Amino acid sequence: MAAALIFAALFGLAIGSFLNVVIWRLPRGESLSHPGSHCPKCETPIKPYDNVPVVGWLMLRGKCRSCGAPISARYPLVEAATGALYVLVVAVCWDDLSRIVLGIMLVTLLVPVTMIDLDVRRIPDKLTFPFAVAGVLAVAALDTSRLPEALIAGVAAFAFFYIAAVAKPGGMGFGDVKLAGVLGIYLGRAVAPGIFIGLVSGIVIGVVVIGRVGVAEGRRTKVPFGPSLALGGLIGFLVGDSIVDSYLDSF
Ligand SMILES: [Zn+2]
Repeated sequence: MAAALIFAALFGLAIGSFLNVVIWRLPRGESLSHPGSHCPKCETPIKPYDNVPVVGWLMLRGKCRSCGAPISARYPLVEAATGALYVLVVAVCWDDLSRIVLGIMLVTLLVPVTMIDLDVRRIPDKLTFPFAVAGVLAVAALDTSRLPEALIAGVAAFAFFYIAAVAKPGGMGFGDVKLAGVLGIYLGRAVAPGIFIGLVSGIVIGVVVIGRVGVAEGRRTKVPFGPSLALGGLIGFLVGDSIVDSYLDSF
């Protein structure tokens, strides 16, 4: 198991490095493959040995080797978070390969969703749609008996958020609606506690914002809901089934 966890960490760091590219370029409509990584200030291409996840940034002490422009700490943080979440998925889902694959896919979706929604207040269809299709295919191939549950949960979560978005325009965005549907595919029935955790965390963040800037300003501040939904989705995926089971057992 130790070897698998180390492999998951290294794989997650490498994917996290690519997700940094996705987070920066996807909302700007830029190609994900060309040109290679370069300094945003002086445009010098980043040398392969400086591009090693986390380590490269630490060696450069967060500065471009050519022009000395600061390189944001979010790059190594995104890499480290992706690596840590891959390890968490493998550790929690250890005896179930299909859940490991689905969990890795889910993390790979939720990390850029969180960062892009924080950056530009938008969840691109270019992320949610491919992961919706890939999720259906993965469940069909790896865990066929759960396919009906995944589809029903996807449609139900989408419908729940769709109604919320239409009932209160300007609150929930349609990017959130589509993300909720994708979470249903990956989580199955566990999407219910996942969405609940997402809503609670969204409310907590809203209260904190109002506490810091006041009610009037807080009402005007548009707090993105994607990060809360992503958090709920991840927790729901990891422990949601046991929450549903203990809830049903209480009857
Ligand atoms: Zn530079």
